[in-house]
Amino acid sequence: MNAIDTQPLFTLNPLDRMDHLRGDILANRNPATDKYLLLSKGNVLLNSSKECFISAAELPETLLNDSLCVFLGDKEDHHYFTLDVTPEQAEQFDAIPLRAFVMEQMLPEDQLGILAEANSLLSWHHSHGFCARCGVKSKAVHGGWRRDCPSCETEHFPRTDPVVIMLVTHGDKCLLGRGHNFAERRFSCLAGFMEPGETIAQAALRELWEEAGVKGKNVRYLFDQPWPFPSNLMIGVHIEAQDTQLTIDYNELQEVMWVSKADVKAVAAGDDDKAFLLPPRVAIARNLLDHWLND
Ligand SMILES: [Zn+2]
Repeated sequence: MNAIDTQPLFTLNPLDRMDHLRGDILANRNPATDKYLLLSKGNVLLNSSKECFISAAELPETLLNDSLCVFLGDKEDHHYFTLDVTPEQAEQFDAIPLRAFVMEQMLPEDQLGILAEANSLLSWHHSHGFCARCGVKSKAVHGGWRRDCPSCETEHFPRTDPVVIMLVTHGDKCLLGRGHNFAERRFSCLAGFMEPGETIAQAALRELWEEAGVKGKNVRYLFDQPWPFPSNLMIGVHIEAQDTQLTIDYNELQEVMWVSKADVKAVAAGDDDKAFLLPPRVAIARNLLDHWLND
């Protein structure tokens, strides 16, 4: 549960994952009621009605039978699956890049979590096709939620990579940064991967020090959300900065700056004349900034 009343959009997933069905669900599919989300090389595939949840009747049998398939869960007696579709098989569908699909709100917001679940799982299958212990090709089992090694019998489970993302404040200022791949004027909260052996607070304080040269204190967890590009858990925290002196790591970031609450409020309200743009609504960084504005 979140410590405060904020619900980032990728936390919204209406599916009941039904782990107890995973064992034999792929052999017992129901073409009359099953729904398929087709993903192909970072694209979402749509049917002729521009829908992303496609019935079995609309799909070629070879695609249904030969593709990597993962059981996502149940909603109102429909079982939802995701299929990993090859570029050749994808040609008969409209393909929309996953990021555009999300940013242009082509999926109702209360279903975004399904996309996070599906893309994270298929990405994991793509990057973990071979046993990490002995190197033999592993096999997807348990409805796509595990890969077993036929040689050494090791069971491999899907991974999620935790990232700390920080609302850093000093008085009525907060810290924003711009990555090297960001669009013009786009800023976000500082963030970084957690390392093995660290707590959330230790990771947040380390990343803040490494990226901006700022000493922080009083780390407080706020809320989190999955992020499917490709498979992260974004953990949102608040940190108080001890001072506003910056020593920026330009290998990591293009720009870091302190902005006033009044300016963030103005940009959030649509003012386009400031030096920065805020992150999109699907990003937890935007939830962190909105939380600060409302605090
Ligand atoms: Zn093995």
